Amino acid sequence: MAMSTMYPKFSTKTDGDNIIMEQKLLAKVSHLVLKKNVCTGCGICSEACPKEAIVLGLVGAVRRGAVTTEAPISVDPAKCSYCGVCVILCPFNALGLEVDGEPSLPILEQEGFPQYDITAEIDESKCNRCTICHEVCPNDAIIRDVPTFEGVDAADGAKRQAALTGKTTFVVDKEKCTVCGICAALCPALSVDRIPFYAETAKSLGDIVWDEKLCNACQVCALACPTEAIKVERAVESNKLPGKVTIDVENCCTCSWCEKTCPTEAVTIKKFFDGEISFNAEKCPAGCSTCVEVCPCNAIYLPSPASAVGMKKQKEAVIAVNKDLCIFCGACVNACPSEDVIRLKRTEIRVKGPETDLFKKIAEKLYVPRTSKVRETFGHVEVKKVE
Ligand code: SF4
Repeated sequence: MAMSTMYPKFSTKTDGDNIIMEQKLLAKVSHLVLKKNVCTGCGICSEACPKEAIVLGLVGAVRRGAVTTEAPISVDPAKCSYCGVCVILCPFNALGLEVDGEPSLPILEQEGFPQYDITAEIDESKCNRCTICHEVCPNDAIIRDVPTFEGVDAADGAKRQAALTGKTTFVVDKEKCTVCGICAALCPALSVDRIPFYAETAKSLGDIVWDEKLCNACQVCALACPTEAIKVERAVESNKLPGKVTIDVENCCTCSWCEKTCPTEAVTIKKFFDGEISFNAEKCPAGCSTCVEVCPCNAIYLPSPASAVGMKKQKEAVIAVNKDLCIFCGACVNACPSEDVIRLKRTEIRVKGPETDLFKKIAEKLYVPRTSKVRETFGHVEVKKVE
């Protein structure tokens, strides 16, 4: 058989949670790797693909777990040109391109396409190493490299006093101390170095030994001492926990949950997109909550029911979005089973690098306002464009 009839060869295979599209040329093998469980069904890749090789699947059903064999998108390995535009524009890092087994994005290397220009930073001087950002981040993008201390999270962690930088002093007035041992009975930081009782003196004699590492300056020894012989003082030099909290920018979807909830305003996030989103709650069949489940930023919620008195004559909203947390990705629009409930319009795409004609053409598509889908067949969803 002639070589030309053998190449290129295309195939799709599944490896664990990855779906791998392959293009085999005589001298080069390209793989487009889709992380099935990371893909949100936002559809940005589908709109961006210059070869129209990517189609949206059953976004809602897949993301809700009703369909487990599919991914929210599917890629035709023969239509794909393995250019990597989808990889660059995926806000969730769900796609990767490999050439001959190595991660590669030739279009970026040749400056043929820009990249998102996002900001996701934590000001270390303001961060007090609390746990909020780590808990709220929907993408596990916060790296909290802080030692564990005894407490609810790590009963066997380091002693809590080690969390703060400071100096503790412990003084025993030998004149007053009777070496009664109450302090040592109460605290693991103290012990009695006793001189054996002896009939000749018939006295309690010895020293109190203090271990600074175990002392948390709680003052119980001083307060319990029957002769007020103990004085404990603590000077705290820094009330910041040791360690560092950072954002893994690769995995940050710029939802800004961390920024909004940070108690010290230490976080700065600038999103991939700016835009507008609105819900027409009247058209929403209450109880579906597909959009709530598929939103990768946890920005959509079912409003708490108002009291009967509070409602008066107003109809209760059944669905709402916190615009501050929305990144205008479009996953909700693609998953919503009802027409015209969600309206989305992107108004800005933040990029750095050359804004090539290809990028401008794709950006035009991404800027088209859209609303929840009107047509779905297995393996293909079309969203409705609106003015
Ligand atoms: S912006 Fe969102 S995704 Fe990024 S680190 Fe903060 S909470 Fe996580």
